[in-house]
Amino acid sequence: MTRYDTVVSGGTVVFPGIGAIRCDIGIRDGRVAAIADDLQASSGDDAVDARGLHVFPGGVDSHMHFGIYRDLTEDVASETESSLVGGATTALSYFRTGHHYLNRSGPYREILPEVLAATDGHAHIDYGYHLAPMTSGQIDEIGWLAGEAGIASFKYYMFYKGLNLAGDSEDADAFTMSDDKYDFGHLYSMMEQVAAADASQGEDARISLSLHCENAELIKLFMARTQAAGVQGARAWHEARPPLTERLSVHEAAILADATRCRVNLLHLSSAEALRGALEVRSLYPSLDVRCETTLHHLVLTHDMLDGTGGKVNPPIRTRDDVEALWAAVMRGDIDWVASDHACCMESQKGDDVWPALPGFGGTALLYPVMISEGFHRRGLALERIADLVSAAPARAYGCQARKGSLMVGADADLALIDLEREQVVTPELLHSAQDHTPFEGVPLKGWPVRTILRGETVYADGEVTRAPAGRFLARPGTGSGV
Ligand SMILES: [Zn+2]
Repeated sequence: MTRYDTVVSGGTVVFPGIGAIRCDIGIRDGRVAAIADDLQASSGDDAVDARGLHVFPGGVDSHMHFGIYRDLTEDVASETESSLVGGATTALSYFRTGHHYLNRSGPYREILPEVLAATDGHAHIDYGYHLAPMTSGQIDEIGWLAGEAGIASFKYYMFYKGLNLAGDSEDADAFTMSDDKYDFGHLYSMMEQVAAADASQGEDARISLSLHCENAELIKLFMARTQAAGVQGARAWHEARPPLTERLSVHEAAILADATRCRVNLLHLSSAEALRGALEVRSLYPSLDVRCETTLHHLVLTHDMLDGTGGKVNPPIRTRDDVEALWAAVMRGDIDWVASDHACCMESQKGDDVWPALPGFGGTALLYPVMISEGFHRRGLALERIADLVSAAPARAYGCQARKGSLMVGADADLALIDLEREQVVTPELLHSAQDHTPFEGVPLKGWPVRTILRGETVYADGEVTRAPAGRFLARPGTGSGV
């Protein structure tokens, strides 16, 4: 009899883009070794009973921010633990030099090894980094980063150009800690380098640029108006950074991407108008590779659901009409993937006043629960589409599809075993994060992971972490045969 390390039997396996099929999975050496309609549980050294459960590919939470406001090592440990709760087994985290994170600048040849050393041994799930070149010297490192350092994706923040950060007097240069202008010249040369790296990496590697699309010049105007009107709280933040600024910024970025043939990812589309911009640029530049992300919070929260400052985030939490427009786009297939934009931000860092409050909050623990509860149960979104939206699609977009986001033979045996009928109301305690509050508090969700498996090992079961951090760096673009 063929032997396996572990056999997961009796479950219904959800194959991304294909369907939910009753079958068993044999795991050997951390990889999927067999998929069959009936494997003997006794053929595995360990047996996982998945009867009554749906077996999804482990989530690829492709938008996180390890260490943005807290010690990087501590943040990696606590926040990847939170990922396990939501069934994510891979995190792709954004990092940049400058204010926040490590509060310093310098070449990524020096800083990336420090970031990896601070992460190594502390993550509960596999991880990679997206890097934001903030200096012209870092732009010159893109070819090396993509070719040798395992970094397949980069970032530009459209709203740092003309920045005057909310609530303080810092200008863009102080924020980026660079003498180089963080302007469209910077963006254009970054896009050239990303496109060149993509061309040199061959057909199945995708080297891309992620864009945070908001416009600082309009934000300054609308922020002054909102403050003068005395509006406070989450509604104020929404009105100070209106959706118009997202759409404008999407168009600006797309013109430059079209000129440089740079593959782009439009991050965290938050509104009907941002979505409109994304669909417009796709039709204007049909040969351009434009992929669209939205977040869990933009699919669930509205500004009138929020009290205080805990839900402050960029781009802001919007209206019910925006939430429904984003869901309609998810259902149509216009949104490529959903991520958390997880940034652990404590209540003390938020304070009582929305203007100086730090933006961002956690959500990675809700990756599958939100999509199953609000997508499958409430709106009829097919389970195989959910598996694609939170796992296979981001893996393809970010160059780790050979190992992550698929349940094919040879892929990493990363699994989320989910009870579709389990109902829980969100509390901070449930999320296993260091964050001491959550804007999702009180939201009832139906469909939760009961076991999370990383490369064949159970790392979370029945609400408890079951293993010391075993996550490894995921070099991208990667191949199937050992990266
Ligand atoms: Zn983000």
